[in-house]
Amino acid sequence: MRKKIIALDGPAGAGKSSVSKMVAKRLNCTYLDTGAMYRAITYEALKRNISEEKEIVQMVENLNMDICAKEDTMHVFIEGEDITQYLRTSEVSSNVSRISAFQGVRNAMVKLQRKVAEKGNAVLDGRDIGTVVLPDADLKIFLTASVHTRALRRYKELKDTDTTLERIEEEIKRRDNLDMTRKISPLRKADDAILLDNSDLTLEETADKIISYWKKVSE
Ligand code: C5P
Repeated sequence: MRKKIIALDGPAGAGKSSVSKMVAKRLNCTYLDTGAMYRAITYEALKRNISEEKEIVQMVENLNMDICAKEDTMHVFIEGEDITQYLRTSEVSSNVSRISAFQGVRNAMVKLQRKVAEKGNAVLDGRDIGTVVLPDADLKIFLTASVHTRALRRYKELKDTDTTLERIEEEIKRRDNLDMTRKISPLRKADDAILLDNSDLTLEETADKIISYWKKVSE
């Protein structure tokens, strides 16, 4: 049977994680949230109070990071500790783009991501999956939505109580800009990716569309 690889890229808050999870479940695939991996590195660097590129890359090269799917959620473990619950705080969100731009950090994460994809039957979501990590993916989707829609979605899922919708919108714009303008693996649509704007779609409708694209390419 054919081993399917689906690459789903796009800016923050487009619903990539939720949609990828749904698609993976329906196609019986592994789901890999690559953003959570960069968030985990960021969380760990903040925890250790290190900010220099050299120190962070050194930390990553010696880090024991494990990823496993548990009850529908991808869990990230660092040195055996499940740190999943700390990955979506505003502190991590506002530092992750700076740290994920370091070449040494990306090299280590891309290696891990390709290892997961090697086994086949996987849906990976991120920023550079279709362009850099898996340029030969069977199906590439670039998922996006208006900044306002994306901010609203994040606002609803955020656990911090002291933040506002406007602040989230600004933060998303800032992060999009950093991700799109960085030198290494910037966020961009692969030439052969399907552009899907889901501003007016529910997450279920978005997943339905992706499944229908998958059916077409796998025929
Ligand atoms: O997808 P999520 O918003 O959790 O990603 C957090 C951050 O991780 C992004 O803003 C981006 O800086 C970085 N990232 C990346 N490459 C990926 C996935 C995420 O640089 N493949």
